[in-house]
Amino acid sequence: MFTHAVKPAPKMSSTLAINAKVSELEAEGESVLQLGFGEARFPVHPKILAALKEHATARSYLSVSGLPELRKKVAEYYRRRFKINADPARVIVGSGSKSLLFAALYALEGDVLLPTPSWVSYETQAQLVGKKIHEIPTRREDNYYLSPAQLRAGLKAARQERQSPAVLVLNSPHNPTGVMYPPKLLAELAEVAREEDLIVLSDEIYALTAYGTVPHVSIARYYPEGTVVTGGLSKHLSLGGWRLGVAILPEGEFGAQLQQSMASIASSIWTTPAAPVQYAAVTAYSDDPDIDRYVHTCACIHGLVTGYLYGVLQSLGVPCAKPSGGFYLYPSFAPWREALARRHNVHTSQQLAEFLLDEEHIAILPGSDFGDDPAELTLRMSTSYLYALNDEEGEKVLATYARNLQPFDFLKQACPRVLEMGERLKVFVGSLV
Ligand code: PMP
Repeated sequence: MFTHAVKPAPKMSSTLAINAKVSELEAEGESVLQLGFGEARFPVHPKILAALKEHATARSYLSVSGLPELRKKVAEYYRRRFKINADPARVIVGSGSKSLLFAALYALEGDVLLPTPSWVSYETQAQLVGKKIHEIPTRREDNYYLSPAQLRAGLKAARQERQSPAVLVLNSPHNPTGVMYPPKLLAELAEVAREEDLIVLSDEIYALTAYGTVPHVSIARYYPEGTVVTGGLSKHLSLGGWRLGVAILPEGEFGAQLQQSMASIASSIWTTPAAPVQYAAVTAYSDDPDIDRYVHTCACIHGLVTGYLYGVLQSLGVPCAKPSGGFYLYPSFAPWREALARRHNVHTSQQLAEFLLDEEHIAILPGSDFGDDPAELTLRMSTSYLYALNDEEGEKVLATYARNLQPFDFLKQACPRVLEMGERLKVFVGSLV
């Protein structure tokens, strides 16, 4: 008999289970509203596509921290856009920001403080690198912001549990809620981090999906010596499949050591992202006015869609934080707890997501997948597939947006499934009262 054993697998998000069910329903000829995937869906910008094609023959390994020209462009971009002190020597590119977050967590000493709800992979990654996680639950009433007092209390509690908290993970704009940290709060959190000697791992992958009017601000502006910023092409340029992430590390001795350690981890695992993609990324970070306009337009469309559905949720009395970036909404159906339990035997967010898929053919992720209390009956609605199942639809959305229609007319012409989702929400909530 074969006696080798496989270690217990790290947790896998329930997205896969939901996808299997969606495929099953679709095979039966049913149509499903897909709000499960957190993927940006606009077509590749033509200039970035041309740059990729032009460099398709770049077949050699590039240096581990990335193409020098790209690191320089990224540093310039972050300096100009986000006013942070980015030095090309402290930029590292990786296979998506996920790999860089993993490398940073591996390289840094100490345990992790994680405000919840949060994106799923921080916890799995911390487990993989043998770190303990201390979760700090945030509240809908506070817009899911971590407050300085909560951070201090979390630190104290973690130390009482004999943990050595040294890394604070922050994510703004935020998955799953779509909220964005205001500058004043970031400055206050930076002060606590400095006093307590914490490293901030600031996941800013959604930075350029902020909805146009209020810009994203990085905590690195207030805590440059202790912040690691991660970003990449996946969200604002809809290039998740190209797997290109960037990290901007602090200046000074600490940053230099971290750079070396992360590069050494990269060299043993993924080496560096695909060469043609790195050349295309030079164009993506070149501050080209056409690309800037496209990024801005995509963010405005995310804002229109989430804004519309946020309005519907509000009119129905469904508690939901007001999103400012990304393409997510995070409503809670807790006010209908009793009706859901009595009529549908639904007690948890997981059961609510299953019910919506089975009965309403709406695919959606439960808040419990993001570390939220199952009894809060929260759901993460990812809206991007509602308006762009494929490139053809994505092109139509962009072309219709360019016509400067009234928001509702734009949605009616280019995003009918967004309106359908709004109507379905009305019927669903109506059925519970
Ligand atoms: N952080 C957050 C909050 C995310 O939602 C995602 C993608 N789902 C990532 C990081 C990873 O992005 P990528 O590896 O594509 O850069």
